[in-house]
Amino acid sequence: TRMPVVVGNWKMNFDHLEATYFIQKLAWTLRDVHFDNRRCEIALLPSFTSLRSVQVLVEADRLPLTYGAQSVSVTTQGAFTGDISADMLARLGCTYVLVGHSERRKYHPEDDANIVDQVRAVLAAGMHPILCVGESFEERRQGIALDFAVGQVSDVTRDLSDEQTSHMLIAYEPVWAIGTGMVATPQSAQDAARAIRDHVRSTFDETVASSVRVLYGGSVTSRDVAQLIEQPDIDGFLVGGASLDVDEFTSIARLTE
Ligand code: 13P
Repeated sequence: TRMPVVVGNWKMNFDHLEATYFIQKLAWTLRDVHFDNRRCEIALLPSFTSLRSVQVLVEADRLPLTYGAQSVSVTTQGAFTGDISADMLARLGCTYVLVGHSERRKYHPEDDANIVDQVRAVLAAGMHPILCVGESFEERRQGIALDFAVGQVSDVTRDLSDEQTSHMLIAYEPVWAIGTGMVATPQSAQDAARAIRDHVRSTFDETVASSVRVLYGGSVTSRDVAQLIEQPDIDGFLVGGASLDVDEFTSIARLTE
């Protein structure tokens, strides 16, 4: 009953002209292969500077795509030079905002408190946060990978309501798998997705647990998705590098369909 979703996180790639070109090519390709967007959702997360172009294209041609941003300010407006508010993103037609990606946690001072505030800002603006969690190699080595990832989910959701949590997506993205070519095995990705869903069930209830979509991310390519999507608790993918190539990204979506 959960709609699978393939999310392309473009990170800091593609200016707005490249984004426009990519989306036009993607739209032709999806039409060519008779992609069925009732069976799988495709979402893109471009840079802020591309969002307006993406909105115009998607709305003008009614493309079967959703989109969103990679981060957001925790405040609603005012003297915060360089920041972008959730309302600004909602006005651009964004459905999603990625929150707490490991690259944001690493290169920006995004701690748990800041991440909780981002989640609240996104929800208040009527969008869906995609919360990223996942252990580093060190925690995996110590055998505490699942506790670590579940702990990150717990830290962010503990003060949210059932209603708020049910609007979230959670991406299990082990840090050691990001951009390394090392993909989690289907079993270990499933174990993490299940642990996350079990945690949501025990903190909230069955309705919330069964509505939250849990994604896997980390070196996803078309080679791995068939086995990963078979896992009962994996509802889709957060794709970095492989989302920058139209044919590869389309393959991933078709295998998820
Ligand atoms: P890669 O798919 O390039 O490993 O990146 C994963 C990621 O960080 C998506 O958010």
